[in-house]
Amino acid sequence: MQNSLYQKCQDYQADYVKLWEQLVNIDTGTGYGEGLVRMGGIVLRFLEELGAEIKTVDSDTPGAGFNIIATFSGQGTGSVLAMAHLDTVFPPGTAAKRPFRIEGEWAYGPGVSDCKGSVALCLFALKLLQETRYGDYGKITCLFNCDEEIGSPSSRDLIQRLTKEHDYVLCCEPGQFGDGVVLSRKGSAVLKVEVHGRASHAGNAPQDGRNAIMEMTHQIRQMSALENPAKLTTLNFTTIQGGDRNNVIPDYAVATADVRVAYPEELDRIEQAARTIAQQKAIPDTRVEVTLIRHNPPFPRNESTDALIATAQQLYGEIGKTLLTNAAGGASDANWAAAAGATVIDGLGPVKGGINHTDKERTAVASVAPRLYLLSRLFMELGRKG
Ligand SMILES: [Zn+2]
Repeated sequence: MQNSLYQKCQDYQADYVKLWEQLVNIDTGTGYGEGLVRMGGIVLRFLEELGAEIKTVDSDTPGAGFNIIATFSGQGTGSVLAMAHLDTVFPPGTAAKRPFRIEGEWAYGPGVSDCKGSVALCLFALKLLQETRYGDYGKITCLFNCDEEIGSPSSRDLIQRLTKEHDYVLCCEPGQFGDGVVLSRKGSAVLKVEVHGRASHAGNAPQDGRNAIMEMTHQIRQMSALENPAKLTTLNFTTIQGGDRNNVIPDYAVATADVRVAYPEELDRIEQAARTIAQQKAIPDTRVEVTLIRHNPPFPRNESTDALIATAQQLYGEIGKTLLTNAAGGASDANWAAAAGATVIDGLGPVKGGINHTDKERTAVASVAPRLYLLSRLFMELGRKG
């Protein structure tokens, strides 16, 4: 299909790959300030050349890099926020061990997919708008944050504030295998259960003990029933500890369950029900405490996201491509945006092909130009709409 904008995306590919390589070859594990500052510097220079209005916000952790907010103002009415993160899960030294490389159809290297391909994609989409002198948008903002991989503790407020200042949020996590985007993500929490019993000699006076492990098995069985398949809520006990000597009735046990929810109210339900269940004890004189530690809120499926996806699918169709959709179990910054009321879609980056967060991470090189086209067209259409 002939399409001059898509042709331009293809023409950018070589320069895109150069930048991609440069970014992947800098270690930027979360908290590794030296690398994050170096990579941030490259991103800042690119944005300066495009004439962006730029702000940086230091991480709350001293020396752990900074977040970059780049804004472009046009003559239109709509406003769009795009996000991609600078940090990876890999420690210093990884890039030297397995630097960026392209082999066949795939690009490899630490963070090649998650999320350096997307950082470069955002930059080139902005470049495309500048070079084609497209100005029919109110405001386009890109946020590059430095702590996504640990749940964005020091950028989540920034994400939520920016979300409220824009009509749409485009989260550029890696494209889903098979050329998909993400229309919902689960939220996560940890349910911690502690049992306090009474220690006693297991041989001489077992009757005087109150066995914390035995009470824990009872609690685990009860609390596992808080799963709710109809609402996609899962609850799995994944750690347990208790007792340290074989001849002592244990006076303490602790267990944690991984909780995933598709709907925010499910976390409240679980918290309340777990408290009630904790009172239903099998062994009197034990004390059971439960705590629900909330991590990311869910990014639930909703009508406004569905409409945004329909727009994206239509735009992708302009170059003869079909955009698939996926519900994801893991969380991302789209969760923070959704919790702040955003109309958001996720997974707009180049398409992943391996297992991210491992040395098998890889990206389909052929997906770069189509995904660049999609992101640029979304900026244009959503900027115009408002
Ligand atoms: Zn990511």
